[in-house]
Amino acid sequence: MRGRIASIELARPTYRYLAFVEVKSDVGDTFRLPMTGTVAQWLRVGQRVHLSTEKAQPGFDAYRLRTARVVVWPLFEKVYTLERRSLFSDRVLYRYRLRAREARYERDYAAIVELEQYHYASRARVLAHWYCEQCGIYRMANARPDCPAGHGPMRFYDLKDATRASRFLVLELLDRQPYEPEVVGYVRIDPPLPLLHRRRPDGSLDQDIRRRIFPPDWFDHPFQPDPDVPPEAWWEEQGKELARTRSPVARLARVVVHPDYRADGLGVQAIRCMVDWVRTRWIPDMRLPKRAIETVAQMARFHPFLEKAGFFFLFETGSGRPALYLPLDETARQAITHFLQADRLARAHGGRLYQARFTPVEPLNGPIVLHQVTKIYRSQLNLEGLAAPVRAALEAFGVEARDLETYVFRRVNLRLEPGTVNVVVGASGSGKTTLLRLLIGAATGRTEPLYRTDEGEIQMPGNVRLQALIPGEVEPALGRQPVLEALYQITGDAALAIEVLNVAGLADAVLFRAPYAELSTGQKARVQLAWALAHRPNLLLIDEFAAHLDPRTAARVGRKLAELARRYGITLVLVTHRPELLQVLEPDAIYLVGYGTLFRADELPELGLFIKEPYASLLVEGKKTWEIRKHPTRVRGRIGIVSGGKLIGTAELRETRGPFSVETLAAHADKHLADTETLNAYARGRPLYAWVMEHARRMEQPVPVPRRPGHQMWIRLRPQDKGSQKTLRQEDKAATSTETSLGRQR
Ligand SMILES: [Zn+2]
Repeated sequence: MRGRIASIELARPTYRYLAFVEVKSDVGDTFRLPMTGTVAQWLRVGQRVHLSTEKAQPGFDAYRLRTARVVVWPLFEKVYTLERRSLFSDRVLYRYRLRAREARYERDYAAIVELEQYHYASRARVLAHWYCEQCGIYRMANARPDCPAGHGPMRFYDLKDATRASRFLVLELLDRQPYEPEVVGYVRIDPPLPLLHRRRPDGSLDQDIRRRIFPPDWFDHPFQPDPDVPPEAWWEEQGKELARTRSPVARLARVVVHPDYRADGLGVQAIRCMVDWVRTRWIPDMRLPKRAIETVAQMARFHPFLEKAGFFFLFETGSGRPALYLPLDETARQAITHFLQADRLARAHGGRLYQARFTPVEPLNGPIVLHQVTKIYRSQLNLEGLAAPVRAALEAFGVEARDLETYVFRRVNLRLEPGTVNVVVGASGSGKTTLLRLLIGAATGRTEPLYRTDEGEIQMPGNVRLQALIPGEVEPALGRQPVLEALYQITGDAALAIEVLNVAGLADAVLFRAPYAELSTGQKARVQLAWALAHRPNLLLIDEFAAHLDPRTAARVGRKLAELARRYGITLVLVTHRPELLQVLEPDAIYLVGYGTLFRADELPELGLFIKEPYASLLVEGKKTWEIRKHPTRVRGRIGIVSGGKLIGTAELRETRGPFSVETLAAHADKHLADTETLNAYARGRPLYAWVMEHARRMEQPVPVPRRPGHQMWIRLRPQDKGSQKTLRQEDKAATSTETSLGRQR
């Protein structure tokens, strides 16, 4: 039905979330509509409106109201999905679902105050006013205080820095984990600033610069309450201004994203939600369609998200802050384009303000090659000097003084390509950290036994710039320095320091100022990562990556780090206990470490060996370790086990033993599981050899392999590595001979 606004009731302490608008229909009915005062105060008594409702006294959710041109109620609300994709493969790594809606409830404003604290709060700067309904007192505080007279939590009154013209959009995180916040961001929209000058490089001013860029009447009716009125008149003074304010330009006064989510695209998403809101509802004044959005924000120098969301930097204000504009229609777009072409100063920056400070590193000038590397862990166990009960306990387990010697790796070959993301997984104590230590030793020349190989060699490119983080062993000493200061000492560039903190998942100004020693374990781990990146390494080794981060934070940090490494040429070796991170890291190679072995888990072995049943299955199940053949072999390392036309598992070929007579082999039947009759038939009087296999494992999914006619001993499972050509040529002879595996004789 059509009608007019008859009255607007704003109750002062609660106006942000409660007001009433009375509408008198053209046929004489009167409706009292509950609404938020933040919206209601922009309406005018006498204004023509359309109302749809079934009820005479509708509740908040039981009516729709629009002016002649724009929807007023219900408030804007829309659900968005933000997909985080891999730059590498374009795969969706994970997604956020967000509900953007105009602030409506008192709790929305409490959440806004909480978010605001991460940005601006300090003792000197109090963010919000609160009041007690029962005693009528007001308090200023950065978090909801309790009434000093014991009336419980005080109620929200207003944000200290906001004006009555300010409107708020909150971003709710949907499908969240129990440990995640409900509101992860908010945007505040105001009318444009009353007057803006441009400061030229020589310090002189261009007065009222916007009138030279945009149609001048766009800024004719700003919101500009007289700041000199006495405090008791301030509310009324703002009300008068609300009545006359209108502009096709909206001002983005704040965009605040929870620090844990900031570096993950939620800033850009918040801007996109805001644009939908401003466009469809003509925020804030609801009087003119919006053609552009203005923002004056120092942080635009340090964060790219405004420009990523479509803002253009146009000029520096008289106080030296950057002013940026987002065009919403063709008129604004042309005005901006024209200014950027025609104005000499604007042409020089081309609309761009933010510059990424992290630039490509000089990549490793060759691969890191491990050749036949063996590392033995030695320790001497001596029970003397232990407390008697400890000694007794150890002795009860049969532990006595002795020298321990175990192979961490045995004759391992490995090749890490420059600029790749490598992940090392394996059980604790399996040798993952040892691998990092050996790489550190090779890169730095450290000579302690832990950092050196026992046999074999590691070739390290000559231009290596290493950073490594091994908790409790190799880590920066940051002490009580504020985090940002510590990083500035390294980079000499505050913007770069902020950028590496962002990559590490720290985007919180409060954290920047905090002394390192006061941070939580998870925050320290992220500062250490930023510290390592600040040195611009081309090789970065991290042990226990993300061990102290919750799963969502770990995923965000992992994604950013892998992206940075790929974009800027850093070779990354991450040890992690968390297989779920493989999803976001999308490693170029995954290495599995455990019990003396180390191999690429995401790649087939180079060679597969044909073995007859039942021996192939017995081998991959670890029931036998000797494969009996008529010849020795030079092949070493991880091989595939092929049976029945399929790759069914892998094993490590350690060595060849023999020659043996059948009689001698019979004494080792537990290792090869063949009976004497079978061995005799196979040997035909000639000596036999045992190929010793270790670390056999069955593959979860057998892989079909192509068959060729004739007898085959080996099959190539993947393209040849250069280094192994020689070995294979020698084996080729055997492969073309008539030799077959043991079982084939029968
Ligand atoms: Zn009270």
